[in-house]
Amino acid sequence: MKTPQKEQSLLIQHAARACRSAYAPYSNFHVGAALMTDDGEIFDGCNIENSSYSLTICAERTAVFKAVAAGKKKFRSIVVTSDDKGFITPCGACRQVLSEFSPKLEIILVTSKGKKKITTLDKLFPTPPDLKKLSHRSKRKAAK
Ligand SMILES: [Zn+2]
Repeated sequence: MKTPQKEQSLLIQHAARACRSAYAPYSNFHVGAALMTDDGEIFDGCNIENSSYSLTICAERTAVFKAVAAGKKKFRSIVVTSDDKGFITPCGACRQVLSEFSPKLEIILVTSKGKKKITTLDKLFPTPPDLKKLSHRSKRKAAK
C-alpha cells in the first residue's frame, strides 16, 4: 500500500529531525529514519556511532527497535534520509531486521535536498531467509 502524500510529508519531517539528532562524531555522516506502524504511529531513529566502531547502529534499526520495544511489530513504511545530497538505502543488516517484521515495507528515500525515491523492501531484499522453515524446525526439535 502506498503511503498517502500527507503521511509521507509527516514521516519526512520526523526523519529530518531525527537526522539532526544523529551521533556521528567519527564519520560525520548523519542519517535519520522515520518508521510508520500499520496503525499510523511514527517511530524515529538516527545513527548512533561508538568509539568501538562495530557497536554503531543505523537509524533504521534504532527506529525498529524503539517501535518493537513499544509493542509494535507491523510497519507500513519507512523514510530514510541523510545529510548527503544523494540517496542512501538501508544496509544489509537493516534490510534483514526490517524483513523480520514487514517484508513488503514501503521504503521512501529522501536526499538532503528533498528529492524522493520510493521502493519496497522486497525489491531491495528479494530473498530473505525462509523463517517459516526455521520455525517448523525448532517446533519439531522441541517436540522430541
Ligand atoms: Zn543499516
